[in-house]
Amino acid sequence: LAINGGSPIRTNLFPAYNTIGKEEEEAVAKVLKTGNLSQFLGAWHADFYGGPNVQSFEKAWANDFDSKYAISVNSNTSGLFAAIGACDVGPGDEVIVSPYTMSASALAPVIYGAVPVFADIDENNFGLDPEDVERKITPRTKAILLVHIFGNPARTDEIMAIAKKHNIKVIEDCAQAPMAKYKDKYVGTIGDIGVFSLNYHKHIHTGEGGVCTTQDEALAEKLYLIRNHGEQVVEAKGTQDLNNTFGFNFRMTEIDTAIGKEQLKKLPNLIKQRQKNENYLYEGLKNIEGLELPRPEECSEHVYYVQPIKYKKDILGVHRNKFVEALKAEIPSAVLREDTPLLGAGYVKPLYKQPLYQQKIHQCSFNCPRYEGEQDYTKTVCSVTERMHNDELITSEYCRPGMSESDLDAVIEAFQKVVDNIGELK
Ligand SMILES: *Cc1c(COP(=O)(O)O)cnc(C)c1O
Repeated sequence: LAINGGSPIRTNLFPAYNTIGKEEEEAVAKVLKTGNLSQFLGAWHADFYGGPNVQSFEKAWANDFDSKYAISVNSNTSGLFAAIGACDVGPGDEVIVSPYTMSASALAPVIYGAVPVFADIDENNFGLDPEDVERKITPRTKAILLVHIFGNPARTDEIMAIAKKHNIKVIEDCAQAPMAKYKDKYVGTIGDIGVFSLNYHKHIHTGEGGVCTTQDEALAEKLYLIRNHGEQVVEAKGTQDLNNTFGFNFRMTEIDTAIGKEQLKKLPNLIKQRQKNENYLYEGLKNIEGLELPRPEECSEHVYYVQPIKYKKDILGVHRNKFVEALKAEIPSAVLREDTPLLGAGYVKPLYKQPLYQQKIHQCSFNCPRYEGEQDYTKTVCSVTERMHNDELITSEYCRPGMSESDLDAVIEAFQKVVDNIGELK
């Protein structure tokens, strides 16, 4: 094994993942020539909705994602804040969230003075487990924030049924799952609001950026107001529902959205490449002893932001972290990412372990006098999440576009080599 001084399977870097090309260059040059880099006005005026690129990007997104409304924002994080605000979440409310996601997903309710309640995940798709969600519902639950993690749709129907029964909203965090489908519907169009990311390591990007989708006119109105200084606009616009309609500046620029239009055209093909690569890796890895590659549900289309691999310590006899270290010594990362590995052990630490929750560092959320519940995050235990984080889950980004079959063969060989020589790690 390379980790013990042997020669690695491969040292030359894998190809860069770069989706930016001539199309984006030309689109940006065109905007620069106009001198009009943003056309937003934070007032009730035609430009309240942004300039021509913002509006045509949103139209294209709405069309491609079968959504009535698509509202661009400057990040998925901003989009989640806007979505929580639009759903009228506030002090005293609870929002059920997954602890196994990027930290912004759980933070959004805190920003509005509400309290996140963590429910455990399903051990096959790593999204919220509907049974645990049901157990966590209280009279204070205002929304469920559902994350389609790694590009795999969560058990959406069951979550929607719980939401309907208790009359609560569902926000879908689709940052990792653009164009993933659940029962022939795009994720982000099933719940009340979908939120997408356009940051540089997502399927497509504009540097930074995001999009909220909704089918509901009233929610769309709130999202527009929260994006763009709503408090200045409501009187002239004649807005009736003033709850949470103060605004931020969550606006994308003409340049970002001009790039976004080109990126959007590339998305279906980029997804096909990810699926093809994942399938190639799956075929090569599925029979290796001690590894298990969970498959998406029959009714789901997974878009593979990440390929999850479950590691069986009881079979291989060595802790996963040691296995991943050995694997990293066998294969390199990629151009543009030289120092950031494409393999991970455990994904993120369960979010309730962060100091924000452990120490409840926010006066008007956990400690709000209007909050009648009690969350002691030091006692929160989501056992499936912890098992995945501590022991079982390996995340691989080697399915990304640009990888050739011989690149993928090197990845498969590395897994096989470490398993074949596992004795060296004991
Ligand atoms: C990337 C990501 C975010 C944050 O997206 P930004 O656009 O960087 O704000 C939120 N949730 C999940 C699940 C993500 O993967």
